[in-house]
Amino acid sequence: MIGHYAVFPLSHFRKFMFPPARCGKPRANIRAFFLQCVCRQDFMASGKAHHATGFAAGIIAAALVSGTGGNHLACGLAMVAAIAGATAPDWLEVAWWSRARRLWITHRTLTHWGVGWAAMLAVSWHFLGRGGDYGAGAAFAFGFACGGLIHLLADWPNPLGVPWIHARHSLNLWTSGHCDLIVVGASWIAAFFVADDIWFHHAYGHMLMNALRTLHA
Ligand SMILES: [Zn+2]
Repeated sequence: MIGHYAVFPLSHFRKFMFPPARCGKPRANIRAFFLQCVCRQDFMASGKAHHATGFAAGIIAAALVSGTGGNHLACGLAMVAAIAGATAPDWLEVAWWSRARRLWITHRTLTHWGVGWAAMLAVSWHFLGRGGDYGAGAAFAFGFACGGLIHLLADWPNPLGVPWIHARHSLNLWTSGHCDLIVVGASWIAAFFVADDIWFHHAYGHMLMNALRTLHA
C-alpha cells in the first residue's frame, strides 16, 4: 500500500519549509519526526542499534575513503554521511513534511532496497579518489551508502526481513531489538579491522593476537 505521498510533490516540500501556523515551527516538526523514528521500534532493529552501528559505519567509510587517497575533508564527510545513512532507510519513509507524519510508503520497501544502496555504493566508489569536487561528493555518497547498507544488515535478521533484490528476505534469527548487542558488536569488530588495516597496518590486530596468544600460553 503506497499512500498518496508516493509522489513527492513540490507542495509538500514547500509545506515543510514554510509550514502554515497550525503545523507549528519547522524545528518542532523535525523533532517530532525524529522522535517518531526512534519510537517506531516494533518493526526495526532498535533506533539505538542503528545509531551505534552508524558510528561503526562512519569509521569504516572514513577509513576506506582515506585508503583511496581522500583528504581529511572527504573522510569527515564520509563519516557524517554514514552516520546519517545508518538511519536513513527508516527516516526516508516518514512523511516528515505532513502534519501526521505517517509513512508515505510501506515500511521496508523502496527505502530498504538492497540493489539501490549497493548501486550507490558502487557508483560512488568508482568516483572516489578523483580529488576535488568529485572526491567530496563521492565521499559523501559513499559514506551514506555504507550507512544505508549497514542499516539493511541490522534489519535483516528480524522476521520482517529486507528486500535485497525483490521480495523481502529474513534471516529469521530474532525479534527486532532483542539481539542488538550482536549487531552492534559485529559492526564494531568490522570497523576495528578495517581501520586497523588501512590506518594502522594491522598494528592493533597483531597486538590483539599476541595478547590472545599470551592468554592461551
Ligand atoms: Zn529499517
